[in-house]
Amino acid sequence: MQTEFDLIIIGGGVAGCSAAITARQRNLSTLMIYAGDGALGKTKKIDNYPGFPDAEGPKLLQALREHAAHMGAQSVRSLVRRVMPLGDQFSVLAGNDVFMSRSVILAMGTSRVKLLEGEEELVGQGVSYCATCDGMFYKGGTVLVIASDAEAVEEAAYLSTLSKVLYVKEAPHDTAGLPESVEVIEGKPLNLSMKGEQIVLKTDRGEVSADGVFVLRPAVAMTQLIPEIETKNNQIVLDENLQTSVPGVFAAGDLAGAPLQAAKAAGEGNVAALASAKFLLLKKANAEKE
Ligand SMILES: Cc1cc2nc3c(=O)[nH]c(=O)nc-3n(C[C@H](O)[C@H](O)[C@H](O)COP(=O)(O)OP(=O)(O)OC[C@H]3O[C@@H](n4cnc5c(N)ncnc54)[C@H](O)[C@@H]3O)c2cc1C
Repeated sequence: MQTEFDLIIIGGGVAGCSAAITARQRNLSTLMIYAGDGALGKTKKIDNYPGFPDAEGPKLLQALREHAAHMGAQSVRSLVRRVMPLGDQFSVLAGNDVFMSRSVILAMGTSRVKLLEGEEELVGQGVSYCATCDGMFYKGGTVLVIASDAEAVEEAAYLSTLSKVLYVKEAPHDTAGLPESVEVIEGKPLNLSMKGEQIVLKTDRGEVSADGVFVLRPAVAMTQLIPEIETKNNQIVLDENLQTSVPGVFAAGDLAGAPLQAAKAAGEGNVAALASAKFLLLKKANAEKE
């Protein structure tokens, strides 16, 4: 599969599909990466989406995805864990795959992630969300995996090839595939803190410490996905073209703020895709001048 795109859209709901359709109309090579069906997939009936009275959410979503594919947008079902600005491109880590893009649209809806107490303060100082990106930093040491679903099992198995792995469940799930060397710690994770060079996890059954902690959940908080983006009162700061504080990164849909409505998400997907096309054209023109 192609790994370099003009535009990567994170999210495959109304906003993401609408952005993909318009981006293809503007001839941008486009990849839409989505982990699931989002809010529309949970909506039994939606009666104010223009042109589709009494629409069923999952059917409307299916039609939007087919439209995006018909226009030539590629798509991958995967959870994006990190977007990293690299020179004038972005590296997008989805599962264990890395894709490159010249612009990005964030269309991840409103999925909220409940962080552990102390977690946010320790991001980059021992707390990581990506085994592939940061596993090597702890080679030969001990790492703690705080896991919410069975997908974390594979990541923990990879980490166990580098380090001693302690595994704590944040939510119940099957751990059948864990290598024997991985030690499962009982207890509900409560908070994280630093003690000297070690990170300490307090659970309801005691404490456990490690050199690094990998928090592996099926959703990623916006601030961890791309920490460079400016937010105010928990809301992404956007200009009139839906561009974030990081040039080339745009946002659309529920993630961009109220009203949380499908028609607004579709409109914003369109605006963000057009703004992304304009951004890429200007960048190309400037590069040709130099
Ligand atoms: C029960 C219910 C009823 C509703 N009724 C109405 C109504 O009557 N009228 C109306 O206009 N609106 C209604 N809404 C709201 C409407 O569904 C949303 O406004 C709309 O779906 C938002 O679209 P979106 O694309 O922004 O987000 P979503 O549809 O939530 O899509 C988000 C996408 O991002 C993906 N994603 C998230 N994080 C990641 C990640 N890290 N990596 C990869 N993918 C990721 C998700 O898997 C999903 O594909 C309703 C919502 C609900 C829940």
